[in-house]
Amino acid sequence: MNSNYYEILGVANTASPEEIKKAYRQLCRELHPDVAGSNPDAEDRIKDVNRAYQVLSDPGKRQQYDLGSDPLGPSGGGFDGGFGFSGGAGGFADLFDTLFTAAAGGGSVRGPASRRARGRDVLEALTLDLPEVVFGTSRDLNVPTYVRCEACDGSCCAPGTSPRTCGTCNGRGMVSRVVRSLLGDMRTASPCPACQGFGTVIDQPCAECAGNGRIRARQTVSLNVPAGVGSGTRLRVGGRGEAGTGGGPSGDLYVDISVRPHPDFVRDGDDLHCTLQIPMTAAALGATLSVATLDGERELSIAPGTQWGHVVSLDGLGVGRGGGPRGDLKVSIDAQVPDPSDDAERDLLRQLAQLRGEERPEARLAHTGAGGVFSRLRDRLSGR
Ligand SMILES: [Zn+2]
Ligand SMILES: [Zn+2]
Repeated sequence: MNSNYYEILGVANTASPEEIKKAYRQLCRELHPDVAGSNPDAEDRIKDVNRAYQVLSDPGKRQQYDLGSDPLGPSGGGFDGGFGFSGGAGGFADLFDTLFTAAAGGGSVRGPASRRARGRDVLEALTLDLPEVVFGTSRDLNVPTYVRCEACDGSCCAPGTSPRTCGTCNGRGMVSRVVRSLLGDMRTASPCPACQGFGTVIDQPCAECAGNGRIRARQTVSLNVPAGVGSGTRLRVGGRGEAGTGGGPSGDLYVDISVRPHPDFVRDGDDLHCTLQIPMTAAALGATLSVATLDGERELSIAPGTQWGHVVSLDGLGVGRGGGPRGDLKVSIDAQVPDPSDDAERDLLRQLAQLRGEERPEARLAHTGAGGVFSRLRDRLSGR
């Protein structure tokens, strides 16, 4: 066994801490079991390399070593105790993992795969009526999904049993083999076929879930729909998707909202629109009318001489998003032209026409271009 720590790491006596660290990492990579294979020589070298690095990476111990004494004591004695090397299941793999984790920051260790896996997200569709969107609502959804197996609490094992360490891979989850190639013999690692890479074997799977740790079931989820959502809104309920396998965390539940068209009201952003049919006489003389809004009956004042298409706003009766201030209800007036049903009505209308000098009516084109009431209304209501 080489006891010159500088030679073991392949650095000069004057090497900087960075050079020592770099050499150590390089050796760790070279001595990785996937590269070097699990042989006693490599294992011994790893012990030496680790011992050398323990001393040379610590300024105090390095100084002591440079002065001629080994801070770790006689070679071979201090390592196991000092490093907490257990020698239990996995043995060499554990040692290597410790080494490599220390060198690489923990990201590159290939250990056994976990049976615990996060469940998938679930996507549901929900159709709402307009009032539910305006005021917000809550719904109980009955979602087909996976739930954690109660019999084994997700452990996958029959009650009273537990997984045993896989004898084929000693719990590593990986087995290595030699492949002949043009470049020579290459050692490759692949998931252990005996345990599917889990490192453990379940001899008695839970009968309820067939060893999956979860079962198919319908789950009732209370969904809180905030005011102001619309068609295309996707709501998320964290942790209410499919339960994970092996006791893993659940995915999320997503709910895509669509809104049924309402017979009377059309939504435009935060505003609602409706059309109110009133008699021509009310439009001409003015009136106070009752309108059935989503908030109940509301009074609406029509000024004398109100024209067709005129819009009256009922403020605050629209949609409020996320508890914010509500938009308005825009009521456009549709004055109904009378269809005289008898001579008396016809005579009255003729008298009115006479009074207004409209017996020979003149027609003129109304301005319907951009900005006019009619065009604004048309733009708002088309295609929404
Ligand atoms: Zn079970
Ligand atoms: Zn195995």
